Amino acid sequence: MSNVFEFEGIDGMGYSQPELLIEKSKIKLPSDLVRKELPRLPLLSEPEVVRHYTWLSTRNFGIDTGFYPLGSCTMKHNPRVNEVIAAMPGIAELHPLQQESHQQGLLAILFEMQEMLGICAGMDTVSLQPVAGAQGEFTAIRCIQEYHKSIGEAHRNKVIVPDSAHGTNPASAAMCGYEIIEIPSREDGLLDLDALKSVVGDDTAAMMITNPNTLGIFEPEISKAAEIVHSAGGQMYYDGANFNAILGKTTPGLMGFDAVHYNLHKTFSQPHGGGGPGSGPIGVKSHLAPFLPTPLVSRRERKEIDDVGLEGDWWYVLIEPSNSIGKVQQWMGNVGAVVRCWAFYRRYGFQLEKMSEHAVLNANYLRHKIMNPESNALDAIPIMPSEGSEAKFCKHEFTISALPLKEQSGITAMDIAKGLLDKGYMAPTVYFPLVVPECLMIEPTETESKKTLDTFAKKFHEVLAEDYETLHKAPITTHVGRVNEVQAARTLVLKYEFEEQ
Ligand SMILES: *Cc1c(COP(=O)(O)O)cnc(C)c1O
Repeated sequence: MSNVFEFEGIDGMGYSQPELLIEKSKIKLPSDLVRKELPRLPLLSEPEVVRHYTWLSTRNFGIDTGFYPLGSCTMKHNPRVNEVIAAMPGIAELHPLQQESHQQGLLAILFEMQEMLGICAGMDTVSLQPVAGAQGEFTAIRCIQEYHKSIGEAHRNKVIVPDSAHGTNPASAAMCGYEIIEIPSREDGLLDLDALKSVVGDDTAAMMITNPNTLGIFEPEISKAAEIVHSAGGQMYYDGANFNAILGKTTPGLMGFDAVHYNLHKTFSQPHGGGGPGSGPIGVKSHLAPFLPTPLVSRRERKEIDDVGLEGDWWYVLIEPSNSIGKVQQWMGNVGAVVRCWAFYRRYGFQLEKMSEHAVLNANYLRHKIMNPESNALDAIPIMPSEGSEAKFCKHEFTISALPLKEQSGITAMDIAKGLLDKGYMAPTVYFPLVVPECLMIEPTETESKKTLDTFAKKFHEVLAEDYETLHKAPITTHVGRVNEVQAARTLVLKYEFEEQ
């Protein structure tokens, strides 16, 4: 079977439709809406469908099959208790149009999530609506845009991003109609305040930045950057993808930010990427709150309400912010994802900061192990921040440059990544951030054991010790070998089609 999507199956059916309740001829549908031909769905029996999807799942690498050190994406273990809670009938079977009194349990969860996220980021109000980090960016930047309009500063048309930013930052700002001003990082990968000073002005709408930055280094001068942007009348936007490094230790609010997004599916565990839907709530300071998307969850004291028969001190209601930009998603966003993340945070409770402590400890341990191999299989490869530099420790992730190796032997970051696949690991993030040449970006997360990290470091050194020929052919143990990336991107086949007979 060369292409599974062309598998038509036996001439059978895995399901049956109930009989129509009225005669077919009595159904009046506009003729242009009626199909001329039956849909050509594969006719598969249930065991065939089960085998097909199980077989597909074995071709994927997932966090459930092995260590997934994908920097910037925070792929951590998804505790199964999250699934149990999200599947409870009071949550999973609730219809969004059911009356408020039926939804009190779910609304209480959503309210608690808004409050918890607000506290963790030092923000005043949180909207759970956006369903991805990128959509959170877009939504918050739209709020900033409306805020500027409301104070007569609609002329501000530029958004500043450092060159180490994730591609979604400039893309989101551009979708709101802003011009992007990119500023170069310093040699050590940190924010260049002089470069920032030289671009801020009367036309600055906002600066978008993540901290720790995409090199895994905490920006020590972040509050100075906030001062520079604020004094020019701009707003500070925090890309929360790296929240796993700081949660419970400091907040974007303390650093001087006005708006943030959270990648719940990264920081708070939730299958993501190909594995499930995301959730990208945003938090804002009070001056931006009137513009948030609608609805938000609020609560009132029960004794204020004329209602009997239900227990509890609080009554939860949906409210609309006064100058809302409108809706960015149907209903309340990806509620199932929010509930899973709520379950995750509830297990930690007041110990939530331990999550970040262990994530940072694991990253530093692994970085140290990789930089100081037990055998002398490699002549040390440069890691940013290098040991001994100003930023002595990384936060939750670190980068490695394979440039010296490439110059010596032709082995690239991509070759190392492919070699790791043959050792049974997901490849780290490669060629990002762009400021590190031949970059490999590694993030172990807090959910991995010391043993996993030790073994990974050992296997990593084994890969580095391999010769060019072997590595250039890798991977050889996976279902699909080395693909032509350019072709894969240019001639993307995503359509389900039968071959003509
Ligand atoms: C993942 C990520 C984003 C985008 O988040 P999505 O949820 O994938 O849309 C933005 N910035 C950084 C630094 C990220 O790692």
